[in-house]
Amino acid sequence: MVSGPGCRERNGLSELTLYFQRFDWSSALDILLVALVFYWLLRLIRGTQAIQLLRGAVILALVMILAASLFPLRAFRWLVDRALPALLVAIPVIFQPELRRALERLGRTGAYLTTTRESSIDEIIEVTCKACVRLSERRHGALIVLERSTGLEEHIETGIQLNSRLSEELLLTIFFPNTALHDGAVVIRSGHLVAAACVLPLASGTVTDRQMGLRHRAAIGVTEETDAVAVVVSEETGAISVAHNGRMIRRLDDKRLRKTLQALFPAPRPRSLSNVVQNVRDRVESAFGNQEQ
Ligand code: ATP
Ligand code: MG
Repeated sequence: MVSGPGCRERNGLSELTLYFQRFDWSSALDILLVALVFYWLLRLIRGTQAIQLLRGAVILALVMILAASLFPLRAFRWLVDRALPALLVAIPVIFQPELRRALERLGRTGAYLTTTRESSIDEIIEVTCKACVRLSERRHGALIVLERSTGLEEHIETGIQLNSRLSEELLLTIFFPNTALHDGAVVIRSGHLVAAACVLPLASGTVTDRQMGLRHRAAIGVTEETDAVAVVVSEETGAISVAHNGRMIRRLDDKRLRKTLQALFPAPRPRSLSNVVQNVRDRVESAFGNQEQ
């Protein structure tokens, strides 16, 4: 029997040819689907702490596999054989918040916009902006959560249900210091202030910014778990911030706050070319004009 490097090369080449011969449109679709799943998972965890965890897990797995296959280490190989499946079980546990968010996003499938009517979206934004600017001038702390497609029922239940029509005066009254409802968050749904004094989950990661107390962390927390948008007015500095998708845009003035909210709640206007151009311009402006945390 002939063996040696030349023979191994030939074998490798014929295996490769065999693979190419078997390659058809279903293989292409197969590869595309796997690539899409990986792309989607990586996009999901981009910019989050999960990416560091994933990097750590990949490095650990690679080192273990390399060490076990390069050297004749039987005991270590036994450990690797048992540890790798355990790592696969650990991944869904470690990435539970990200997976949850992903499945929620998938469930929304296009139901991205709130169900409120166009005038109602504009009205909510207008009222929220005006109230926040006045709260900021008075240095009254506030936390306003605007519901989108994910229901916030479990957070609403932690507060006092009001179901009142949203108005600037109502927001100013609720967040007046030392009143019964000023502590916690208000939730707004379809033009109504559904509940006040709600307790929200805090941000999962460690927040390094010293100006980020519990109010700001709660704003980030609720937007990590849901697609809601949270507006915060700082009692200490009067600064207005907007949280969405687990991130916070800090120190917004009246104009930038309005633009940011308009970009996050695009009204379903008729699709004329000028509207599309305006929409893109607003989004670019708000993306480049804002300072993301
Ligand atoms: P500020 O800049 O206004 O001081 P902050 O981010 O520094 O805000 P804290 O000073 O800790 O936060 O604010 C405390 C207030 O935040 C509480 O009085 C309460 O109204 C609100 N708050 C704290 N935790 C939560 C929570 N889990 N959910 C909703 N509101 C909360
Ligand atoms: Mg504080």
